[in-house]
Parts: sequence; structure tokens; C-alpha cells
Amino acid sequence: MSSSAKFLADRVAIVTASTKGIGFAIAQRLGLDGASVVVSSRQQKHVQEAVSALRLDGINADGLVCHVGNNSDRKKLIDYTIERYGKLDILVSNAAVNPHYGQLLTVTDAQWDKLLSINVKSAFLLAKEALPHLEKSKNGNIVFVSSIAGYSPIEGIGAYSIMKTALIGINKALSQALAEKNIRVNCIAPGIIRTDFSRMLTDNPDNKYDSEKIVPVGRYGEADECAGAVSFLVSDSASYMTGETIGVNGGMHARI
Ligand code: NAP
Repeated sequence: MSSSAKFLADRVAIVTASTKGIGFAIAQRLGLDGASVVVSSRQQKHVQEAVSALRLDGINADGLVCHVGNNSDRKKLIDYTIERYGKLDILVSNAAVNPHYGQLLTVTDAQWDKLLSINVKSAFLLAKEALPHLEKSKNGNIVFVSSIAGYSPIEGIGAYSIMKTALIGINKALSQALAEKNIRVNCIAPGIIRTDFSRMLTDNPDNKYDSEKIVPVGRYGEADECAGAVSFLVSDSASYMTGETIGVNGGMHARI
């Protein structure tokens, strides 16, 4: 298929926290579907490796360092994309941290602030900052990466779960606020996906999240299994979808 025949041809996408795991898989999928992608994360080395890997796949990719909690980094990410490509059509807000494991009420003020800053506040601010450019696109789309934990809190990561619930709220409210501007806003809620982030669950023989018992399809998910849902949500095939959250969870049931 020639690049012009691909359904995201001529679209420009930013994906945050996209040098590995789910973010990288999303950048790769959008790129293979024809979009130009700007990847980013905190470490320059990771950015270089991700850009090289995407280019080897024939994807039009660039990247830069962006710690999403840093105001000037977020500004640089958007400015760079506009300077490089002249526009922005797709924002995928994927960054999250989890500095606290254990009983919910043992979360410290500092951990709570970090969770709010990276997982919730920066996602909302980046969407706001991207807005002037998304408004100019005929295909303006935002996708947030929440989690199955946002629907049903997971024991041991309760504080993180609360942040993911907040993101589902932002998704709904922002979709209504931006509907008149013709910008669609959607979300994915992955289940347990095998990445560095989830290693505490997937690679711990003692934990109770035994995939065969709790995931109906009998295995954990892979990062690229989350990516197709994002590519669909930002495509014209989803033109009447906004404010929706798609679960990608191997059949684990979760809904608010
Ligand atoms: P991952 O494989 O550990 O990748 C994390 C990525 O985020 C890396 O590229 C990392 O690169 C970057 N990063 C970390 N902190 C950052 C920050 N402050 N600013 C910018 N980039 C940052 O994680 P993942 O599992 O793919 O998780 C991605 C998203 O999926 C998160 O929102 C997570 O909550 C969500 N999710 C994951 C699962 C799961 O089971 N894995 C399930 C549901 C939802 P640097 O180190 O270079 O910054």
C-alpha cells in the first residue's frame, strides 16, 4: 500500500511517554497507518532509540525530550511539532507514574502530588496547550490512556487507580467541551499489559494476579494490542465517537 493510501496519511501525531511500552506501540501503529509521529519521554537516549526504531519501520518519526510534568518541556514538544510539520492533528496523552504501592491511606503528600501532577494535571494541561493547533485541523483528536484500574480500583495501587478514574472524567468533560470545535476526545483503558510498568504484577510469582485465573482470555496483553484501538479512535471510522473509553483487557470486566 502506498503511504498516500494509508488512512492516517497526512496526519501529524504527538504521543507522550512513547519511547517504550504502550506509548511506543501507539506511535508505531499510528506511523504504520500513515501518520507522522513525534515521540517523547524524559531521557534523550530513549528518544533517540525510539526514533531510530520507528524510522527503520519506514515511519516518518521525530522526537525530543519531554517530561510531561515540566511546563517548558510540554511547550517545547508542541512548538517543535509545529515547526517541524506545520500542524498537529492527533494528541495521545499516555504518560503516567506510580510512586506508591500498598494500602491507599499510606500514600504520602509528596506521592499524591506527583501522581496528580503527572497522571492528571499534565494530561489536562497538554490537551489545553494543544488546543489552538487541534482546532485548525479538520481531524483534531485527543486520546487519553487510562486503565482498567480507573473503573475498578486495584488493591495495592489505589492512589494510581484514583488518578486513572480522574482521567476518564477528563475524557468525558473535555469531549463535551470540544465537540463544538469538531475535536473528538476518547480514551483507552488497558487491562494488564506486559511492559516494564506492570512487571510488579506480571513477573511476580507470588502475586494474586495470576493471568490464567483473572484474565478470561488466559494471558496478559501486549503493548501493540492497545495500539489498534487508538488508531481506530483517531481515524475517520470513529467519526461519531467522542467521550468514549475502549477497554483493552482480555475480557476482564470493568465499567463505572
Ligand atoms: P512503560 O513501558 O514503563 O513505559 C513508560 C514510558 O513513559 C517510557 O517511555 C518512559 O520513558 C516514559 N515516561 C515515564 N515518566 C514520564 C514522564 N514524567 N514524562 C514523559 N515520559 C515519561 O509503561 P506502560 O506500561 O507502557 O504505560 C503507559 C501508560 O499505560 C501509562 O499511562 C499507564 O498508566 C498505562 N497503563 C498501563 C498498563 C499496563 O499493564 N502496562 C495498564 C493500564 C494502563 P523515560 O524513562 O525516558 O521517561
